[in-house]
Amino acid sequence: MKSELTRRSFLARSASGLGFAAALQPVATRAQTPAPLASVARPALLGGPPVRQGGFPGWPVFDEHESAALDGVLQSGRWFRGSGPRVDEFEKAFAELMGARHCIATANGTSALLASLGGMEIGPGDEVILPPYTFVATLNVILDHYALPVFVDSDLETFQIDAQKVEAALTDRTAAIIPVHLGGGAADLDTILEVARQRPVRVIEDACQSHLAEWRNRRVGTVGDTGCFSFQASKNLNCGEGGAILTNDPELAVRCYAFHNNGRGREVQGYDFRYTGGRAANLRLTEFQGALLLAQMRRIEAQARNRDENGAFLNRLLEDIPGIHPARMYDGCTRNAWHLYMFRYDADHFAGLSRDRFIEALRAEGIPCSAGYSPLNREAFIRATLESRGYRRIYPARLIEEWAERNACPQNDTLCRTAVWLTQNMLLGERGDMDQIADAIRKIRKHAALLKA
Ligand SMILES: *Cc1c(COP(=O)(O)O)cnc(C)c1O
Repeated sequence: MKSELTRRSFLARSASGLGFAAALQPVATRAQTPAPLASVARPALLGGPPVRQGGFPGWPVFDEHESAALDGVLQSGRWFRGSGPRVDEFEKAFAELMGARHCIATANGTSALLASLGGMEIGPGDEVILPPYTFVATLNVILDHYALPVFVDSDLETFQIDAQKVEAALTDRTAAIIPVHLGGGAADLDTILEVARQRPVRVIEDACQSHLAEWRNRRVGTVGDTGCFSFQASKNLNCGEGGAILTNDPELAVRCYAFHNNGRGREVQGYDFRYTGGRAANLRLTEFQGALLLAQMRRIEAQARNRDENGAFLNRLLEDIPGIHPARMYDGCTRNAWHLYMFRYDADHFAGLSRDRFIEALRAEGIPCSAGYSPLNREAFIRATLESRGYRRIYPARLIEEWAERNACPQNDTLCRTAVWLTQNMLLGERGDMDQIADAIRKIRKHAALLKA
């Protein structure tokens, strides 16, 4: 009902070109709208009034529950997971929330990925498939294990790895595929799992941006062999730094736990020095972080619903603007976590106004945004790593020589030139906020020629 009303008011407003529908907006939002005629005023970048003056909802969100949780750990003096109950409690709660059998909390998302690869004994000589449109950590963990990264191009429309191209990238050296659920959506797990199971090849879901997202009504991160999460400050569940591995495989649960705990299993406590598994490190979470996560988890479902309503509404608004293409979701993606709100910008529909100038203009209108990732497969440090002493010892010269050509990702190059991102906290407010984002974009489009000059 409410959705219909807002939709109609939007259509009425765009039809008339006037802002009279502002009268239908919630009071709180109306107070932040400087002028009902904002979309015909001069662009803020050229000195006009910005569409939005108030900021967006802040992040992180906390109150006395978080203070009490942290103080409780402090006063207990039990700050280490071996001495306190909080990290264990968090692991149980997170596994249950996500519908996984086992959870291993880790120091951050990078170490969740590192321990997954470690627990699977992936190492020198192995190839690991990943998308080029991701945070650098997905790549770094592969290099940390002296494995060879193999990039599979992006699907322009969804921003996810193009699952149709995974099979062609497999060799007899392929040990794992790391699909990344980008921005809160989901990679095409049906196709990836089908390809992986024929081999068999391990599937490590990088779900660091997709807490509570779902693939065919199952939480992402519980579908592959392991799923890795990040609780770093920007993520949808946050304890400053933190991470987790989910798995339904009891053997992997033991191996990943041992990897993250210097080779010591769950049963090994205190001054007992027995080791299991192989290579290992200390990648543990502290009790402070465990307590903070338990407190933050009380909010996660309501926040996710809030983002989902606003994200879906913003999609409907922006799909109607020529030249703006919100990231599409695969049919199998039954829930989006909206860690990022991502869209492609087509300058041809904005009088040739460059993407970077568009971003500047949108920021000036009071809408924070960024250009997102640059092409990871083209980073110079990869070449340097592959030509390093260790890599040259492991891999035939030909494999290193041919690497750049084999890893070209032309679709991703286009994606990196045209993407625009908004952050998850911007979806935590009201629908009126989404109207203003769309208003600001329409205003820029109207004045695009002027902004370009
Ligand atoms: C944040 C992130 C990571 C790494 O998580 P950290 O907790 O920062 O180590 C890995 N992959 C993706 C896709 C991420 O967004």
